Parts: sequence; structure tokens; C-alpha cells
Amino acid sequence: MLHSKSAIVTGSTSGIGLAIARALAQEGANVLINGFGEPQEIEKERASLEAEFGIKAIYSPADMTKPDQIAGMVHQAQEMFGAVDILVNNAGIQFVSPIEEFPVEKWDQIIAINLSSAFHAIRATVPGMKARKWGRIINTASAHSLVASPFKAAYVAAKHGTAGLTKTVALELATHGVTVNCISPGYVWTPLVEKQIPDTMNARNMTREQVINDVLLEAQPTKQFVTVDQVAALAVFLCSDAASQITGTNLSMDGGWTAE
Ligand code: NAD
Repeated sequence: MLHSKSAIVTGSTSGIGLAIARALAQEGANVLINGFGEPQEIEKERASLEAEFGIKAIYSPADMTKPDQIAGMVHQAQEMFGAVDILVNNAGIQFVSPIEEFPVEKWDQIIAINLSSAFHAIRATVPGMKARKWGRIINTASAHSLVASPFKAAYVAAKHGTAGLTKTVALELATHGVTVNCISPGYVWTPLVEKQIPDTMNARNMTREQVINDVLLEAQPTKQFVTVDQVAALAVFLCSDAASQITGTNLSMDGGWTAE
């Protein structure tokens, strides 16, 4: 379905981003993967994308807190693939703390990675998409783009911002063949969720099991984690022609969380 297309997926060395990169590659798209990790592991993943799916895969170590590196990443993809047709702004981090102790540098870092990086990447890719009259921009938001939870001030603020950015850019590009949407998962079992368990245990004075069952799965009426492959399948659908009239939306995949 995506054989003539090329994609950038930020934050794709792990979790949801990696699943989206693999799913787009499976559909025939070239992919630029990005994110941190062990160089040998990243190279293994890049090479296996090429070997398994017969596409071109490149890696950018761009730090999503650095606007010049984000512009460099987009330039790298344009040079290597000739175009960027699909942009998935997915990189994100979490930090859990009461507001009065929330470290200022964590606030700045989360706003930069979870929100501003999408602005910088969209800004750099839109001219090419407009010129080719086709594009797909998908932002990984969160149930926290619609509702809040205590102790996650920066994350919730950034994700609400992502939802607003999505709607704005969708309107700007509506007549240019470019759709812009966000996917808002509930809890997906990835390193990002696993890493916040100890801090949530401290902030709420709970055991690990209590955090999993009484905080995380408590939020999801289905009592199940979303899987990375389910999020990736929705991203692939948004790239299809069937989804060409879906733009400016915030698509929940949260086991019913935000229905409550
Ligand atoms: P993850 O920790 O598995 O992956 C995060 C990715 O972002 C990694 O590849 C990491 O290297 C990269 N990254 C982090 N800081 C970066 C930086 N400065 N520059 C470039 N890359 C950077 O997390 P995940 O759960 O797969 O999260 C992916 C996205 O999904 C995030 O935006 C997150 O907020 C969102 N999300 C996750 C969940 C969940 O429950 N896991 C739910 C809703 C939304």
C-alpha cells in the first residue's frame, strides 16, 4: 500500500514508535528511525527492517530537544529518500512528581520532546508535502491529551498542546491533500510505562501491583493494556486512501478510559 512512500518516525528505537516504523515498512514505505539506545541494537533493527521488508531504512540520532537536529533529520530523510510523505511525531518521555517539586528542567525537557519537536518536524516537512499534494502527519498524543491525572503536569500539558497543534495544522493543510491526526492511546505496555512505576509508587505510597492494577488499569474499563501493534495498525490505516477524509481528529485507543 505504501510502496512509493517514505516516512519519518521519531522515537522509534523502542515501544510504540518501533512498532509503527515496522508496520509502515511492512506496507512498503522507506523509514527513517530515530531515538536513543545501544548503537549495535539500533543498527540491528535498521538492518532487519531492510532485510525483512525490502525497503530503505536509515537512522537519525537527532535529539528531539534540539530544533537544529530535528531540521537535520528531516533534511537527511529528504536527501536519502527524495521526499518525506509520512511524518509520525512519536518521541516522548514521562515524569511523575507533585507540582511544587516538579523539576523545572524536566518541565522544559518534556515540553520540548513531547510537543515542540512535533512543531519543528511539521514545519520542515510541510513544504514538500504541499508541493506533492499528499502527506500524512500522525502525532502520538495520549488519553492525557483529553483528560488529566495528578502528578503529570508537564506530560498532560504537552499532550493537550499536541491535540491543539494537530487541529490547527489539519485546518491549514485541509485543501492540500495532507491529513493531520493524533492517536491517543491509553496505557500501552512499553518501557515508558514501566519506568514510571517506581515514581508513582513513591508519589502515591503504593506497591508495584497496586500501581499496575489500581492506577494504570483502573483507568481502562477493559482492564487490559493497549498493544503497540494495535497503535501501529491505526497509524497504517491513517496512511491509507480510505482515511483521506479523516483529518484534525484525536483518535482514542484507550480501552474506554476517556468515555468515563
Ligand atoms: P518508549 O520509552 O518505549 O519510547 C520512547 C522513544 O522516544 C524511544 O525511542 C526513545 O529513545 C525516544 N526518545 C526519548 N527522548 C528522545 C529525544 N530527546 N530525542 C529523540 N528520541 C527520544 O515509550 P512509548 O511508550 O513507546 O512512547 C511513545 C509515545 O507514545 C510517547 O509520545 C508517549 O507519550 C506516547 N504514549 C505512550 C503511552 C504508553 O502507555 N506507553 C500511552 C499514551 C501515549
